[in-house]
Amino acid sequence: MSTSMRAIAVLPGRREVTLLTEPEPRIGSPTDVRIRVLEVGVCGTDKEICAFEYGIPPKGSEHLVIGHESLGEVVEVGGGVTKVKPGDLVVVMVRRPCDREECVPCRAGRPDFCATGEHVERGINGIHGFMTEYVVDDEKWLIPVPKALRDVAVLVEPLTIAEKALIQVHEIQARLPWSCPTRTKGWCHSAVVLGAGPVGLLGAMALVRDGFRTFVYSREAEGGAKDALMRSFGANYISTEATPPSKLAERVGGIDLVYEAVGLSRLAFDVMAQMDRNGIFVFTGVAALRGPQPLDTDTLMRNLVLKNQVALGTVNAGRDAFEAAVSDLSVFLERWPQAIRRVITGRFPLEDYRDLLLGRPGGIKNLIALAS
Ligand code: BGC
Repeated sequence: MSTSMRAIAVLPGRREVTLLTEPEPRIGSPTDVRIRVLEVGVCGTDKEICAFEYGIPPKGSEHLVIGHESLGEVVEVGGGVTKVKPGDLVVVMVRRPCDREECVPCRAGRPDFCATGEHVERGINGIHGFMTEYVVDDEKWLIPVPKALRDVAVLVEPLTIAEKALIQVHEIQARLPWSCPTRTKGWCHSAVVLGAGPVGLLGAMALVRDGFRTFVYSREAEGGAKDALMRSFGANYISTEATPPSKLAERVGGIDLVYEAVGLSRLAFDVMAQMDRNGIFVFTGVAALRGPQPLDTDTLMRNLVLKNQVALGTVNAGRDAFEAAVSDLSVFLERWPQAIRRVITGRFPLEDYRDLLLGRPGGIKNLIALAS
């Protein structure tokens, strides 16, 4: 007998966002795990899907259950499961490989670097997501999380963006002697984070933890709540109002790394023009398509060449980044318990989905809490 459960879904064909009921998923293979969803983060991608700008339902389905920032509790395991047991906390990875034999990254278990673009993503593109009561997945897509992280572990997925970026930054910068003569002063290179939303904030924490002198650059005035939050974990805050991009390098004292986390291409390229020698620029935001804009491409290109700069785009994350995020969250919780908890600004019941997804609820990271 099948039991039903509630789920938040979009029906792009009808331009509807709705709370519907679905049959509860069951274990179908020996390595399957059934998970009770505890919390799901609401992010910009979910809002874009609800505005029908993004998101594709599974083949043959009119609807897509959304949500990709998960935290759940294992409730049942198939006979062949070895890595988790009932009662364990887990975060489920988002992307699944394409079927193409020639896709080397997917065949090697790195769908985050899928070469065909035919990958699918839970809650985003081609497979249902986590804004529902139960999900089933193969144990290979689960990331176990220590119970001590229960309050903040839903931040693992948004933190993986920074972790994947940092893994690549260190690999790329191994191209040169990048050690820091200034380490003895207590800091290393300077990093500028564009945007003070959840991705920017978590990215700033990861950069501070990694030894960067970190500056968050965003719209809100200096001296406000964002400024105080950044300072509470050792980052600095600069408002775009007080310092235009052309004066940013001077104020920071040389920009070695830019971690772009806002999706504003104009701002991104204006800051890129300020980057120092051997600098690396990491794009993580998906820019809205606002049409062509004038850009000083000569200066940007000269800088890239004459200053040995690198521009890098990064999306999604592999197991290495998920594991780094779990480990970093423990560090954040120990070093900055209040700051990391303040990233989560609200926990709401499933019924509040319309305000959270279609309205302007405010705050930093709001969650849908499905179970305690
Ligand atoms: C998700 C990623 C996903 C990307 C593109 C982001 O919001 O965190 O997992 O790959 O959107 O769909």
